[in-house]
Amino acid sequence: MSIYLDNQAAKPVDERVISEMLPYFRDKFANPASLHADGDIATDILEKSREMVADFINAPNPSDIIFTSGATESNNLAIIGAANFYKRKGNHIIISEIEHISILNIAKYLEKQGFKISRIPVDRYGIIRLDKLENLINDSTILISVASASNEVGSIQPIEEISKIATKNKILFHTDAIPSESTLSIDVQSVPIDMITLSSNDIYGPRGVGALYLKKGVRVNPIIIGGGQERGFRSGSENIPGIVGFAKAAGIMKNEMPKEVEYLKGLRDKLISGVLEIIPNSHLNGHPEKRLANNAHFRFDYIEGESLILQLKEHNVAAATGSACSSKTLEPSHTLIAMGLLHEEAHGSLLVSLGRTTKLTDINKIIEVLPGAVKRLRIMSPLTPPELLKKYKEVK
Ligand code: PMP
Repeated sequence: MSIYLDNQAAKPVDERVISEMLPYFRDKFANPASLHADGDIATDILEKSREMVADFINAPNPSDIIFTSGATESNNLAIIGAANFYKRKGNHIIISEIEHISILNIAKYLEKQGFKISRIPVDRYGIIRLDKLENLINDSTILISVASASNEVGSIQPIEEISKIATKNKILFHTDAIPSESTLSIDVQSVPIDMITLSSNDIYGPRGVGALYLKKGVRVNPIIIGGGQERGFRSGSENIPGIVGFAKAAGIMKNEMPKEVEYLKGLRDKLISGVLEIIPNSHLNGHPEKRLANNAHFRFDYIEGESLILQLKEHNVAAATGSACSSKTLEPSHTLIAMGLLHEEAHGSLLVSLGRTTKLTDINKIIEVLPGAVKRLRIMSPLTPPELLKKYKEVK
């Protein structure tokens, strides 16, 4: 197993979660739709799990939680579902320029269906321009969707302020809470949000299960039609072991988040200061303070992030250049470009994302191997200026 520093792409499932799930693969495997006693057991645990996930975000009614197959589906249900339900009211939707690719592609899909999409610009830290948001709202705006934080550079968005603007203008507000699910608590009774995308793996539960929080009274048209499970919002037999794991993960996260966040911030800050101090021409992308506790996103001049990942791979370190879901494209990150970076700057990125299992020795290891890896690539790069090459050659 590598020194795993790619927790934004996937997190290990907590052992306590695995133990909780196992009985639901073995004896307690029944379908909650069945009328027999085994079906009742499945229904009971489904509803108990719903309560636990509702409690995770302080939702007043467990029925506000709709279980789905994950974040992509929740985003589809929220945005396409609301667009179709409210289209008689208006056809204008606002997202930000730096949303996850699932939301960007949903927006493109809706544009083809005749909806109008506006994209809020961001500042150089990747934080949305609230002043611009107000200007984008018009009489046909039905929905604002902004993720809780950047899943790449880790900058935290002003969710409370967006919620106030949406409420004042009587517009629905959806947030994809995936980037911050393990590091920022959500309380929908203190900050009103109409729809929230949640996923199990982002809080150390199994993959393939997630939820959409749908505030009481908010409506969406279903996108999966069938037997009418999940109050008709999401048909298909519920994934009981997955949902049990998700609920257990939410319970653990709720209890352990404050302590865990302090721990992660300590590691993150050590990593950031270590890297910026040792490596010349290195930069931190994203906001220096308003950033996720588990995110360190660097930029190294004159080299390519992909080559750096391969160098780190040789040292058994697993990291990323940015969002895993966009990693197969050769395009520079849309987030970094929206922040005003040049293409060549955007290409030299490294995303180190920490998690519950990250240890101080992992951070020490990356601080130890990164300077050499960057140096090796810079010596080969035609972009490296002669002064820097000279410095590298002097210091053996
Ligand atoms: N939204 C965000 C912000 C993400 O980072 C991701 C990927 N983890 C998704 C949505 C999609 O998640 P999934 O691939 O699990 O559906």
